[in-house]
Amino acid sequence: MAEGDPQKRWYDVTLPLTPEMPVWPGDPPVRVEPLVEGDDENPFSILRLEMSTHTGTHVDAPRHLFPEGSGVDALPPHELIGPAYVVDARGVKALSPAVLAELEIPAKATRLLFHTDNEMLWKRDPHRFHTDFVALTPEGAQWLVGRGIRLVGIDYLSIARYGMEVPVHHHLLSAHVIIVEGLRLEHVPPGWYEMFCLPLKVHQGDGAPARVVLREL
Ligand SMILES: [Zn+2]
Repeated sequence: MAEGDPQKRWYDVTLPLTPEMPVWPGDPPVRVEPLVEGDDENPFSILRLEMSTHTGTHVDAPRHLFPEGSGVDALPPHELIGPAYVVDARGVKALSPAVLAELEIPAKATRLLFHTDNEMLWKRDPHRFHTDFVALTPEGAQWLVGRGIRLVGIDYLSIARYGMEVPVHHHLLSAHVIIVEGLRLEHVPPGWYEMFCLPLKVHQGDGAPARVVLREL
Protein backbone atom coordinates (compact mmCIF):
# COMPACT_ATOMS: atom_id res chain seq x y z
CA MET A 1 0.00 0.00 0.00
CA ALA A 2 3.02 2.26 0.25
CA GLU A 3 3.57 2.46 -3.52
CA GLY A 4 3.76 5.80 -5.26
CA ASP A 5 4.20 9.11 -3.47
CA PRO A 6 5.48 8.15 -0.01
CA GLN A 7 3.96 11.32 1.43
CA LYS A 8 0.43 10.18 0.61
CA ARG A 9 -1.43 7.43 2.40
CA TRP A 10 -3.61 4.98 0.59
CA TYR A 11 -6.68 3.33 2.09
CA ASP A 12 -8.27 0.23 0.64
CA VAL A 13 -11.86 0.62 1.83
CA THR A 14 -13.12 -2.60 0.22
CA LEU A 15 -14.62 -5.55 2.08
CA PRO A 16 -12.87 -8.85 1.39
CA LEU A 17 -15.08 -11.36 -0.45
CA THR A 18 -15.51 -14.38 1.82
CA PRO A 19 -18.19 -17.06 2.29
CA GLU A 20 -18.73 -15.75 5.84
CA MET A 21 -19.57 -12.17 4.88
CA PRO A 22 -23.13 -10.99 5.57
CA VAL A 23 -25.47 -10.57 2.63
CA TRP A 24 -28.84 -8.86 2.29
CA PRO A 25 -31.64 -11.02 3.75
CA GLY A 26 -32.78 -13.42 1.04
CA ASP A 27 -29.64 -13.09 -1.09
CA PRO A 28 -27.56 -16.23 -1.54
CA PRO A 29 -24.40 -16.49 0.53
CA VAL A 30 -21.10 -15.85 -1.21
CA ARG A 31 -19.46 -18.99 -2.53
CA VAL A 32 -15.72 -19.07 -3.03
CA GLU A 33 -14.50 -22.58 -3.66
CA PRO A 34 -11.86 -24.38 -5.64
CA LEU A 35 -12.78 -25.11 -9.25
CA VAL A 36 -9.37 -26.47 -10.10
CA GLU A 37 -6.69 -27.26 -7.56
CA GLY A 38 -3.19 -27.19 -8.91
CA ASP A 39 -1.34 -30.49 -9.01
CA ASP A 40 1.74 -31.90 -10.68
CA GLU A 41 -0.02 -32.34 -14.01
CA ASN A 42 -1.75 -28.93 -14.07
CA PRO A 43 -0.13 -26.49 -11.65
CA PHE A 44 -2.78 -23.78 -12.00
CA SER A 45 -5.37 -23.16 -9.30
CA ILE A 46 -8.72 -21.56 -10.11
CA LEU A 47 -11.49 -20.53 -7.73
CA ARG A 48 -15.16 -20.46 -8.53
CA LEU A 49 -16.91 -17.31 -7.31
CA GLU A 50 -20.67 -17.05 -6.88
CA MET A 51 -22.45 -13.98 -5.52
CA SER A 52 -25.17 -11.43 -6.17
CA THR A 53 -24.34 -8.14 -7.83
CA HIS A 54 -24.91 -6.40 -4.46
CA THR A 55 -22.30 -8.29 -2.50
CA GLY A 56 -19.81 -6.62 -0.19
CA THR A 57 -18.44 -3.31 -1.40
CA HIS A 58 -20.51 -2.55 -4.48
CA VAL A 59 -22.09 0.09 -6.68
CA ASP A 60 -25.81 0.49 -7.40
CA ALA A 61 -26.72 1.65 -10.91
CA PRO A 62 -30.08 3.18 -11.99
CA ARG A 63 -31.06 -0.22 -13.44
CA HIS A 64 -31.31 -1.55 -9.86
CA LEU A 65 -34.67 0.20 -9.62
CA PHE A 66 -35.55 1.23 -13.17
CA PRO A 67 -35.70 -1.60 -15.75
CA GLU A 68 -34.71 0.79 -18.56
CA GLY A 69 -32.16 2.67 -16.45
CA SER A 70 -28.47 2.72 -17.25
CA GLY A 71 -26.45 -0.27 -16.21
CA VAL A 72 -23.34 -0.31 -14.08
CA ASP A 73 -21.28 -0.74 -17.26
CA ALA A 74 -22.52 2.66 -18.46
CA LEU A 75 -21.50 4.63 -15.36
CA PRO A 76 -18.92 7.21 -16.46
CA PRO A 77 -15.41 6.61 -15.06
CA HIS A 78 -15.00 10.35 -14.47
CA GLU A 79 -17.85 10.19 -11.97
CA LEU A 80 -16.45 7.10 -10.25
CA ILE A 81 -12.96 8.56 -9.92
CA GLY A 82 -12.19 11.95 -8.41
CA PRO A 83 -12.15 13.99 -5.21
CA ALA A 84 -14.36 12.62 -2.45
CA TYR A 85 -15.03 13.89 1.03
CA VAL A 86 -15.19 11.45 3.97
CA VAL A 87 -17.77 12.82 6.41
CA ASP A 88 -17.49 12.02 10.10
CA ALA A 89 -21.08 11.03 10.86
CA ARG A 90 -20.35 8.96 13.95
CA GLY A 91 -22.77 9.40 16.82
CA VAL A 92 -25.88 9.87 14.68
CA LYS A 93 -28.72 7.38 14.29
CA ALA A 94 -29.96 8.36 10.83
CA LEU A 95 -28.90 10.70 8.05
CA SER A 96 -31.87 13.05 7.95
CA PRO A 97 -31.77 16.62 6.57
CA ALA A 98 -31.42 18.05 10.09
CA VAL A 99 -28.43 15.80 10.79
CA LEU A 100 -26.87 16.40 7.36
CA ALA A 101 -27.13 20.16 7.83
CA GLU A 102 -25.14 19.85 11.08
CA LEU A 103 -22.36 17.73 9.57
CA GLU A 104 -19.42 19.54 8.11
CA ILE A 105 -19.96 18.93 4.42
CA PRO A 106 -17.89 21.22 2.20
CA ALA A 107 -19.95 23.19 -0.31
CA LYS A 108 -17.85 22.02 -3.26
CA ALA A 109 -18.12 18.30 -2.44
CA THR A 110 -19.87 16.21 -5.10
CA ARG A 111 -18.78 12.78 -3.79
CA LEU A 112 -19.54 12.02 -0.14
CA LEU A 113 -18.63 8.95 1.89
CA PHE A 114 -20.32 8.63 5.27
CA HIS A 115 -18.25 7.19 8.11
CA THR A 116 -20.83 6.21 10.73
CA ASP A 117 -21.26 4.09 13.83
CA ASN A 118 -21.76 1.21 11.40
CA GLU A 119 -18.06 0.55 11.98
CA MET A 120 -19.15 -1.00 15.30
CA LEU A 121 -21.35 -3.54 13.49
CA TRP A 122 -18.35 -4.81 11.54
CA LYS A 123 -16.31 -5.05 14.73
CA ARG A 124 -19.01 -6.51 16.95
CA ASP A 125 -20.37 -9.24 14.73
CA PRO A 126 -18.98 -9.07 11.21
CA HIS A 127 -20.69 -12.23 9.91
CA ARG A 128 -24.28 -11.37 10.79
CA PHE A 129 -26.53 -9.01 8.81
CA HIS A 130 -27.62 -6.18 11.09
CA THR A 131 -30.85 -4.27 10.46
CA ASP A 132 -30.14 -1.36 12.84
CA PHE A 133 -27.49 0.24 10.64
CA VAL A 134 -27.15 3.99 10.13
CA ALA A 135 -28.23 5.21 6.69
CA LEU A 136 -30.09 7.87 4.75
CA THR A 137 -33.73 8.70 5.31
CA PRO A 138 -35.79 9.44 2.16
CA GLU A 139 -35.68 13.17 3.01
CA GLY A 140 -31.92 12.93 3.55
CA ALA A 141 -31.58 11.47 0.06
CA GLN A 142 -33.58 14.37 -1.38
CA TRP A 143 -31.39 16.79 0.55
CA LEU A 144 -28.23 15.34 -1.03
CA VAL A 145 -29.73 15.54 -4.52
CA GLY A 146 -30.63 19.18 -3.85
CA ARG A 147 -27.03 19.82 -2.79
CA GLY A 148 -25.74 18.55 -6.13
CA ILE A 149 -24.14 15.37 -4.78
CA ARG A 150 -23.21 12.98 -7.64
CA LEU A 151 -21.92 9.99 -5.67
CA VAL A 152 -22.74 8.87 -2.15
CA GLY A 153 -21.18 6.03 -0.19
CA ILE A 154 -21.73 4.47 3.21
CA ASP A 155 -20.09 1.96 5.53
CA TYR A 156 -22.87 -0.64 5.56
CA LEU A 157 -24.63 -2.75 2.97
CA SER A 158 -27.34 -0.22 2.09
CA ILE A 159 -27.47 3.54 1.71
CA ALA A 160 -31.11 3.41 2.87
CA ARG A 161 -32.33 2.75 6.36
CA TYR A 162 -33.71 -0.75 6.72
CA GLY A 163 -37.28 -0.81 5.41
CA MET A 164 -36.89 2.47 3.49
CA GLU A 165 -35.02 1.06 0.50
CA VAL A 166 -37.42 2.07 -2.25
CA PRO A 167 -37.87 5.83 -1.63
CA VAL A 168 -34.19 6.43 -0.84
CA HIS A 169 -32.93 4.55 -3.91
CA HIS A 170 -35.65 6.21 -6.00
CA HIS A 171 -34.55 9.73 -5.05
CA LEU A 172 -30.88 8.98 -5.69
CA LEU A 173 -31.01 6.75 -8.77
CA SER A 174 -33.64 8.84 -10.59
CA ALA A 175 -31.22 11.78 -10.19
CA HIS A 176 -28.35 9.59 -11.49
CA VAL A 177 -26.51 9.74 -8.18
CA ILE A 178 -24.09 6.82 -7.98
CA ILE A 179 -24.48 4.75 -4.79
CA VAL A 180 -21.55 2.92 -3.18
CA GLU A 181 -22.43 0.51 -0.39
CA GLY A 182 -20.43 -1.73 1.91
CA LEU A 183 -17.40 0.51 2.52
CA ARG A 184 -14.97 0.01 5.41
CA LEU A 185 -14.03 3.45 6.67
CA GLU A 186 -13.01 2.95 10.30
CA HIS A 187 -9.34 3.73 9.68
CA VAL A 188 -9.97 6.69 7.39
CA PRO A 189 -9.82 10.14 8.99
CA PRO A 190 -12.47 12.60 7.79
CA GLY A 191 -11.42 14.86 4.94
CA TRP A 192 -10.61 14.98 1.25
CA TYR A 193 -9.32 12.04 -0.78
CA GLU A 194 -8.91 11.02 -4.36
CA MET A 195 -11.37 8.18 -4.79
CA PHE A 196 -10.96 5.29 -7.18
CA CYS A 197 -14.12 3.21 -7.45
CA LEU A 198 -14.23 0.68 -10.25
CA PRO A 199 -17.21 -1.70 -10.32
CA LEU A 200 -16.95 -4.83 -12.44
CA LYS A 201 -18.25 -4.16 -15.94
CA VAL A 202 -21.32 -6.37 -15.76
CA HIS A 203 -23.22 -5.89 -19.02
CA GLN A 204 -26.39 -3.94 -18.18
CA GLY A 205 -25.80 -4.82 -14.56
CA ASP A 206 -28.05 -3.36 -11.89
CA GLY A 207 -24.95 -3.12 -9.74
CA ALA A 208 -21.58 -4.77 -9.31
CA PRO A 209 -18.92 -5.41 -6.69
CA ALA A 210 -16.17 -2.80 -6.78
CA ARG A 211 -12.67 -2.28 -5.49
CA VAL A 212 -12.63 1.11 -3.80
CA VAL A 213 -9.42 2.85 -2.84
CA LEU A 214 -8.83 6.32 -1.37
CA ARG A 215 -5.60 8.29 -1.65
CA GLU A 216 -4.80 11.24 0.54
CA LEU A 217 -4.88 14.49 -1.37
ZN1 LIG B 1 -26.86 -2.34 -3.63
